Amino acid sequence: MARIVMKFGGTSVADIARIRNVARHVKREVDAGHEVAVVVSAMAGKTNELVAWTREASPMHDAREYDAVVASGEQVTAGLLAITLQNMGVHARSWQGWQIPIKTDNAHGAARILDIDGAFLIKRFGEGQVAVIAGFQGIGPDNRIATLGRGGSDTSAVAIAAAVKADRCDIYTDVDGVYTTDPRIEPKARRLAKISFEEMLEMASLGAKVLQVRSVELAMVHRVRTFVRSSFDDPDAPGMGDLLNPPGTLICDEEEIVEQQVVTGIAYAKDEAQISLRRVGDRPGVAAGIFGPLAEANINVDMIVQNISEDGKLTDMTFTVPSGDVDKALAVLEKLKPEVGYDVVQSESGMSKVSVIGIGMRSHAGVAATAFKALADKAINIRAITTSEIKISILIDGPYTELAVRTLHSVYGLDKQ
Ligand code: ADP
Ligand code: ASP
Ligand code: MG
Repeated sequence: MARIVMKFGGTSVADIARIRNVARHVKREVDAGHEVAVVVSAMAGKTNELVAWTREASPMHDAREYDAVVASGEQVTAGLLAITLQNMGVHARSWQGWQIPIKTDNAHGAARILDIDGAFLIKRFGEGQVAVIAGFQGIGPDNRIATLGRGGSDTSAVAIAAAVKADRCDIYTDVDGVYTTDPRIEPKARRLAKISFEEMLEMASLGAKVLQVRSVELAMVHRVRTFVRSSFDDPDAPGMGDLLNPPGTLICDEEEIVEQQVVTGIAYAKDEAQISLRRVGDRPGVAAGIFGPLAEANINVDMIVQNISEDGKLTDMTFTVPSGDVDKALAVLEKLKPEVGYDVVQSESGMSKVSVIGIGMRSHAGVAATAFKALADKAINIRAITTSEIKISILIDGPYTELAVRTLHSVYGLDKQ
């Protein structure tokens, strides 16, 4: 017997027929004698609809009320799955975040989980009950519903798996694992049998939305055995109930991966914007003077490029922010003008960031040069570059995103191995 947390994403619970299919996956594990807790997302498109309604009601709105609205999608799915399971003869009950409770901090709309009462869920296992838990939500110190940021049900699932010391956390989605790149963009992408926590963390934070970043962090810290797998597979197909290696991708320690490739995957993030400050004073404290106030305004600055100044007096500073934050950033910069002292500020939206990720880069030279040459051969202009030990990120014009992803995917032979 094992203890398993099963999470089902929006497309997997998009309608009643799919919820029935999900229930069959759950029943399979229950019939095998395992202790099972389930985490569900809202039905596909529901959260977007709820978010749009809050904006329509008022473009500027109270984050606590946003949470009250958008958390409702998961409540519906949890109830529907519990009904379906009961109808199949499985002892099931739905639970919302506050009932367990899943305690979060006060950052409404992007809250972090602080604590989960594992004993509550373990008691349910003892009663032979399948707890069907609404993902994406918890309860804040203000006693109000708080949501965990888009894609947050993954984080609910991994955090619950850690709290009940589950043997496994299965993330069921609309693809059968983590691929070398988004299979929607590159049909030649291949499924990875295993990927290290570190690489998955980079992939997720650089745009691969198959897992929310925070869920990977938690899996890494708490050593949760996490599998990404497909809910569309036949629940009773051979191997689906395999305890150690179900079909899918295992997120694991680097040491568990025998054949490490130099490059593991390509990720992309659309809707980036580039902001340039021209002729900024080249003196100590200038960067702090610009990026401090931007951070205080909660603007997520990503790539930063500062030119070497020719005369030692004036320089150009270029950085990227999500397109949605441009207006807010420009307002902050306008206020800073007298203090920082720059000539003009220019901004351009519609950029994309493509990233090459792989632990093998630590010990291989020339990975970046290969990317630059491949993009040049396709006449794709590079606007900015950042690198770390295990990744290279390149800023390009948005319309070239798909071409850049496919080009990089092929130049590192990811479609062939
Ligand atoms: P869910 O609703 O189940 O949470 P998401 O839409 O959040 O599903 O995540 C699954 C999607 O992530 C896939 O449909 C796929 O298009 C996308 N994706 C992006 N990069 C990757 C990748 N490297 N491997 C697998 N899927 C990826
Ligand atoms: N329903 C939420 C969202 O769409 C959470 C999730 O699906 O993980 O962001
Ligand atoms: Mg998701």
